[in-house]
Amino acid sequence: MDLGIAGKWATVCAASKGLGRACAASLAANGVNLVINARGAEALEATARDIRAASGVEVITVAADVTTPEGRAALLAARPEPDILINNAGGPPPGDFRDWDEADWIAALRANMLTAIELIKAVLDPMAARGFGRIVNITSSAVKAPIAELGLSNGARSGLTGFVAGLARAVAPSGVTINNLLPGRFATERLAANFAFVARRTGRSVEEVRREAESRIPVGRFGDPHEFGELCAYLCSVQAAYITAQNLLIDGGAYPGTF
Ligand code: NAP
Repeated sequence: MDLGIAGKWATVCAASKGLGRACAASLAANGVNLVINARGAEALEATARDIRAASGVEVITVAADVTTPEGRAALLAARPEPDILINNAGGPPPGDFRDWDEADWIAALRANMLTAIELIKAVLDPMAARGFGRIVNITSSAVKAPIAELGLSNGARSGLTGFVAGLARAVAPSGVTINNLLPGRFATERLAANFAFVARRTGRSVEEVRREAESRIPVGRFGDPHEFGELCAYLCSVQAAYITAQNLLIDGGAYPGTF
């Protein structure tokens, strides 16, 4: 399927590894030029080289912390009016809520709620003026079914979800869609770090924790980030113009509800 977005520009946050990288790669495979971002310059440059070699699109790198005003300013300066924005940032650390103080909560809100809102604020009106825009926020299945040790994520991402639910409908006539993609468990460094935390806390081996988590997924395996990237690219397509204000789970059937 031709997604109809070749030649457009996407800004993909937190994209040197994992799900962000997969979204960038799938957009590039459909001819979309990229601004990609991460804090670590080395992995970011390596990702940019891989994507350029695989797709031939233009890739601009911005090594910066997207959760800071300076980082976002640098990202926007590289391409002030993208056609597509993929919001992403590292997830907050796992833990027990008794150990978190106000500063921990503010950091989580900044990374997983306010950063996305600030970037949406910067790109939305120019998108609307051009009559086309696609905004995808990478959130988490934790928005639908909370994960006990990820309370900071459960809380902060739910805040973003509530905000987007209102905004996406308000701007729907303009040709800009805003959707949230909710990953279940994908084989990335982040997932491995979460298993290491649970293993330390419960005294079990990381392999045991990993196997148990995998066995709870109806499809019988963790997700491949490429599967996530392809769905993201589709949401950014011209064909997806009628999909907005949605929370799309991609979790191998793990969420146990009927709807
Ligand atoms: P990952 O493999 O650890 O990759 C994270 C990427 O984000 C890296 O490129 C990292 O590069 C970049 N990054 C982190 N913090 C950043 C910051 N402040 N500014 C700019 N770039 C930053 O993680 P992932 O699994 O792809 O997860 C992506 C998001 O999805 C996270 O919020 C995670 O909590 C959420 N999620 C993941 C899963 C899963 O199963 N993997 C499930 C639910 C939700 P640098 O470190 O160099 O900055």
